[in-house]
Amino acid sequence: MPNLKQLIREIPDWPKPGILFYDITTLMKDQAGQAAVIDGLKSSVNADEIDAVIGIEARGFFFAPTVAHSLGKGFIPVRKPKKLPAATESVEYALEYGTDKLEIHKDAIQPGQRILIVDDVLATGGTAAAVAQLVEKLGGKVVALAFVIELDFLSGRDKLGKHRIHSLLHY
Ligand code: AMP
Repeated sequence: MPNLKQLIREIPDWPKPGILFYDITTLMKDQAGQAAVIDGLKSSVNADEIDAVIGIEARGFFFAPTVAHSLGKGFIPVRKPKKLPAATESVEYALEYGTDKLEIHKDAIQPGQRILIVDDVLATGGTAAAVAQLVEKLGGKVVALAFVIELDFLSGRDKLGKHRIHSLLHY
């Protein structure tokens, strides 16, 4: 089992002063590292518990389709505004300054479908909570959320209170 933390490059003061950015591209280009991450994310659920896997643009797309494939499920993208071509459902959420928006195709989830949400980093939890809301707006059920990294000091999981959360690495 490779040491995953050693494979993640840490970039201080990016994209702005005071942020320590966890760069997972160095982990993903390492074959054993990538395999361990996909296996770890996959193990957050049993295949028979879910119907599909959601990835959040952009870095969630590095993982979610492969996790979906390895569980024998389909992949559903949640994207930034105006990227999806068919009818969408959207959710607005608060950032440090201002708001942001995420969208999903209205017909991507059928009522009652069970969903695993995948992203790279759980920071403040705003993004993940918004995506969980999107799933529920369409009548889906969030079975679990899986992250490569959780920044414990930001208490993001408090925003996801009732949901099951699996993080491979904690900082
Ligand atoms: P949040 O909504 O605060 O939980 O932020 C989550 C999103 O921001 C994730 O999709 C990450 O890609 C990104 N993110 C936040 N903080 C970091 C960090 N320190 N290093 C890398 N990505 C981060």
